[in-house]
Amino acid sequence: MSDSFLRLKDQVAIVTGSSSGIGRACAIHLASLGAKVVVNYSSNAEEGRKTMEEIEKIGGTAILVKADVSREEEVKAMFNKTINEYGKLDILISNAGLQKDAAFLDMTLEEWQKVIDVNLTGQFLCCREAARQFVAQEKNKADVLDHSELSIGKIVLMSSVHDIIPWAGHVNYAASKGGVMMFMKSISQELAPHKIRVNSVSPGAIKTTINKEVWSDPEKYKSLLQLIPYKRIGTPQDVAKAVAWLSSDESDYVNGETLYIDGGMTLYPEFADNG
Ligand code: NAD
Repeated sequence: MSDSFLRLKDQVAIVTGSSSGIGRACAIHLASLGAKVVVNYSSNAEEGRKTMEEIEKIGGTAILVKADVSREEEVKAMFNKTINEYGKLDILISNAGLQKDAAFLDMTLEEWQKVIDVNLTGQFLCCREAARQFVAQEKNKADVLDHSELSIGKIVLMSSVHDIIPWAGHVNYAASKGGVMMFMKSISQELAPHKIRVNSVSPGAIKTTINKEVWSDPEKYKSLLQLIPYKRIGTPQDVAKAVAWLSSDESDYVNGETLYIDGGMTLYPEFADNG
């Protein structure tokens, strides 16, 4: 197939937390669709390089950038590097996130704060920089008549089914993802007049290191499947395909939405048998 059929040809995309799991799959998939990708990692450069190698293997284009998404100066530096390298930005996949699980009665302020800092403040910092860049580059376009009707910039936030399913033992995580939903909807409303689209994806159980403790234990895996009507755990690629669609012009009229990629986990499976 000719290059011109690649859905994201020459679009520039930052994928935060792409040294592993869902972020890595998103970076590789976007590159396979023609995007020039910024692979971001916070501490593990070796894993970041593995993502780069995968992208190089499929003939894609990428640069590797270290930044902690919860630190303003590092986020700004990552966006500056992107613009210095590629001259523009079209897509932000704001994926970086973590868990610090503890029973509520035992949860420390550090465990609470770390998760909010990365999962929610990190979204704020990255989305704000992306939106500023989209608006600035649109203003710089010389001929306003050339402007397409299509979106000038796309943002996809990585949320979770726990933006609507309460999760005992993980209140910091659930609170951060619940926050992501209302943050996404509010900035989507505010940025839509600029022709910037903002959406979220909310994965269910996806096989990555974040939940290895569950899928690597046969008993825990069996009880996890009780929660999934589709009866399989998701893959990072399941999420990456949806992220690519939301980043492309094929979803141009989709704005402020959360797409659940969860094999039906949010369908109240315990009611399948009459409750
Ligand atoms: P993962 O642990 O493989 O990936 C998380 C990534 O975020 C890692 O690359 C990590 O280095 C990066 N990261 C953590 N802190 C960072 C920081 N301060 N700055 C920059 N990067 C940082 O797990 P994953 O499952 O791929 O998680 C990716 C996203 O998907 C997270 O936001 C997570 O909450 C969400 N999610 C995962 C699942 C699942 O079942 N795996 C379900 C719902 C949502």
